[in-house]
Amino acid sequence: MRAAVMDGKREVSLKSTDIPVPKDNEVLIKVDTVGVCGSDLHYYSQGKIGDMIVETPFILGHECAGVIVDIGKNVQNLSIGDKVAVEPGVPCGKCEFCLQGKYNLCSDLVFMATPPDNGCLMDYIVYPSQWVFKIPDNMSFAEGALIEPLAVGMHAVAQAQADIGKSALIFGAGCIGLLTLLTLKSRGITNIYIVDMIDSRLDKAKELGATETINVKNENVTTIINKLTDDKGVDMVFEMTGSPQAISQTVKTVKKGGTIICVGLGSEKDVSFDLGGLIWKEATLKTVFRYRNLYPSAIEAVSKGIIPVKEIISHIYNLEDISEALEYHVNCKNDIIKMIIKL
Ligand SMILES: [Zn+2]
Ligand SMILES: [Zn+2]
Repeated sequence: MRAAVMDGKREVSLKSTDIPVPKDNEVLIKVDTVGVCGSDLHYYSQGKIGDMIVETPFILGHECAGVIVDIGKNVQNLSIGDKVAVEPGVPCGKCEFCLQGKYNLCSDLVFMATPPDNGCLMDYIVYPSQWVFKIPDNMSFAEGALIEPLAVGMHAVAQAQADIGKSALIFGAGCIGLLTLLTLKSRGITNIYIVDMIDSRLDKAKELGATETINVKNENVTTIINKLTDDKGVDMVFEMTGSPQAISQTVKTVKKGGTIICVGLGSEKDVSFDLGGLIWKEATLKTVFRYRNLYPSAIEAVSKGIIPVKEIISHIYNLEDISEALEYHVNCKNDIIKMIIKL
């Protein structure tokens, strides 16, 4: 089988390797589609994210869907031929956080394409069946692969306790920002403002139902939000960029008693934050690290047509062109909303 192997910064090529054999609790998946995530690009172009450093050879990719082609003898939840989406983290199942159901916080989590663990950009993977979810026939593999980033948006929206009548502001109209927008809409939120620096992303956001788009290159977010909300601010502010400039606007734009949800993690972890302003408004600050327990509901929302994830796909490449695809993504970042790779 083929595997897209990274041998150094901006160096990925297809290599031939053996098809793995599933253990008793594992399934063998013929991978069909893999989404390219911001983290993949970071590892590809920088060789690291923070203190997580790629040791080559390394395999990228963690947003994955495919079909079951073999199962271990203890597997009961899946059968050969099932179309599936893969949740790319396997927690220990025993620690305090796992036992509380907050398994995304598990210290022993093995997460695809996070050094030293390899990802799924290859023809076949074996995976514990517990973390593999059947998708219905009416869902495409591309939609299956997008369940992963959708789960991040859904987790953010759940943390915000989004409800009908509330207003929202999203910093960042990339993949996660747009999926958060779609999730908010699915929950009956109608006033959704979204901020970015790239017009094509904002156009997409508008097309997907954003009430108002704001380009920070030529507009002041706080001024506009004040105008739109009679100086009250918004109930929920979602920060998806990790940029210090955006983070500094969150307290200015949130309503008194509102909630700020920080999802984006930039290269600078230590950013200044207006704590006094937050206290003055008695606003709540929450953070989101990946997601938990959301694959079944995300799959249901997509298959029932409630969250049209496929609308955000902007580029499709074949695995043979993986090197070209990743180079294009690094060089022309602004043109791309979501790239997927077909195997
Ligand atoms: Zn991802
Ligand atoms: Zn654990």
